[in-house]
Amino acid sequence: MSKAKIATAVAVSAIAGAAVLLLSRDPQDLHTSIRASAVTAVAEMDAVAQRQGKRVKFTTTYRPQAEQDWLYAQGRTTPGPIVTWLKTGAHNTDLPDTPRGDAEAFDFGVFQDGKYLGNDPLYQKLGPICERYGLAWGGRWKSPDMPHCERINWRNLR
Ligand SMILES: [Zn+2]
Repeated sequence: MSKAKIATAVAVSAIAGAAVLLLSRDPQDLHTSIRASAVTAVAEMDAVAQRQGKRVKFTTTYRPQAEQDWLYAQGRTTPGPIVTWLKTGAHNTDLPDTPRGDAEAFDFGVFQDGKYLGNDPLYQKLGPICERYGLAWGGRWKSPDMPHCERINWRNLR
């Protein structure tokens, strides 16, 4: 387990006051309707990034609600910059056909020499690759979420 992942787990468990909750980066936690296209899209994004000496990896698939609550509080009731506009999201859904709350979304990250690049211009090129696989890209939103892709219309499927 990475250091960052442990730090997140500790912070979330302090908020939740109970069990340690961890976000997942595993494509197996994605809803079956998008799992194959997500894996293929990330592989294609990674191939594009490698031409610039960078890599693309999944950074989040499933995110527990306690962690979403903790992220939402940041910049509002806890210190730090605002990192999300969403109280609920497609990383943690409760669709009738996803009884385990499988993720309807994933985040991808650009990395160089193992370092995460949150503001790389490459995201502009990578998002449209998700769209070609029938996914909605957060880069088109009013408050853009560049590294985020999700199942189209998942909210209407509730
Ligand atoms: Zn996301």
